[in-house]
Amino acid sequence: MSTADLFQQHVLPTYGRFPLVPVRGTGCRLWDDAGKSYLDFCTGIAVCSLGHCHPRLVEAIRDQAGNLLHCSNLYQIPKQAELAEEINTHHVRLPGKIFFSNSGAEANDGLIKSARRFGHKHPQPDGSPRFEVITFRQSFHGRTLGSMSATGQAKIQEGFDPLLPGFRYLPYNDTVAIEAGIHPETAAVLLEPIQGEGGVNMATPEFLRSVAAVCKKHDLLLLFDEVQAGFGRCGDAMAWRMIAPEILPDGISWAKGMGGGVPIGAFWLNDRAIDDSGTPLSSLMGPGSHGSTYGGNPLVCAASLAVLQEIREKELASNALLMEVRIRETIRSWKLPAITEVRGSGLLLGVGLDPGLIPAPEGKTPALLVVTKLMEHGLLVPPAGPNTIRLLPPLNVTEAEIDEALAIVRKVLGEFN
Ligand SMILES: *Cc1c(COP(=O)(O)O)cnc(C)c1O
Repeated sequence: MSTADLFQQHVLPTYGRFPLVPVRGTGCRLWDDAGKSYLDFCTGIAVCSLGHCHPRLVEAIRDQAGNLLHCSNLYQIPKQAELAEEINTHHVRLPGKIFFSNSGAEANDGLIKSARRFGHKHPQPDGSPRFEVITFRQSFHGRTLGSMSATGQAKIQEGFDPLLPGFRYLPYNDTVAIEAGIHPETAAVLLEPIQGEGGVNMATPEFLRSVAAVCKKHDLLLLFDEVQAGFGRCGDAMAWRMIAPEILPDGISWAKGMGGGVPIGAFWLNDRAIDDSGTPLSSLMGPGSHGSTYGGNPLVCAASLAVLQEIREKELASNALLMEVRIRETIRSWKLPAITEVRGSGLLLGVGLDPGLIPAPEGKTPALLVVTKLMEHGLLVPPAGPNTIRLLPPLNVTEAEIDEALAIVRKVLGEFN
């Protein structure tokens, strides 16, 4: 039986899958079961930061697998401790503490729980807890009940109500709405500094600054979802620093690129004092407040440590910026009518498509049509909403690979006039 047949018989049909069957990868390249090769600018949706089967990552996984795959969070786990130190010292570069999860959705659930704890500790004037988390339209925070409820997109929530209460969605990049949008029960604001799934929309510096000011004024937690944008992808270790580096968040979530392909996520809480007696915010999530059997196990932490050290030592965030310039300049030079704009930062880029020029058949978006055509020509990219394709190559992608991929983009999009 073919892989597609097995899927149809045995796997829940939650994804509209392409027929592609990938079986092998190295660096920027992926091969399917028929031996055809692709340039992979999808990277498992911004996961394979170092490309496929990077020797340092493979070695770290082999080594750890031969020593100790898993043990409980009841015990001290050396690689988890080293990974937390690596992140705090070299990537966040702020005093704080980390909880390790298995995915981005779980990391965001952890931030939401932290906001609720904070709202109990700092209640409304009448003593009732604050609980509301403000998020934004077109956001994406995950698929668990909590992170789905936080997500500001109706299509993600359809058929699953009642949602978890305590979320309100405001327009993104709207400084007036955020300044007017705080209620007595509001405890936190959660946002993606660069929205990925929602179409690659970047927060403006004015917006991030007014969100930070509103949080300070109303004693709200400022929470950044860096699940897709974090760890070098946008040109800095942390995406918000590309926009307004002076801002100090209270919490951050990560996943995707931090593991390079192993399932790991995390959330971070600032050590800052939240009251006059000096209680650190990070202390609110104390013993018994949260947990995960797999979270931060030796295998995934050894892998993530190798990935983050490689990103830091090889300055891959800087490479992301250099490659961004090359991509933007090349695309600008084409002057293709089908391309409306390039959005994003570093190697989290969205290429906007003119839907009027791309005749998508019934039930298919322009982005899906273009993604399918690019695949036929040997380039893998994911869509981001109906009219945007994303370019998410590995952070160590070379100029030659960028040029090869862009030649395919030009050929495919050049046909729409
Ligand atoms: C992918 C993503 C998530 C969800 O991560 P999972 O690992 O799929 O649970 C959350 N937030 C953002 C910004 C994402 O891009």
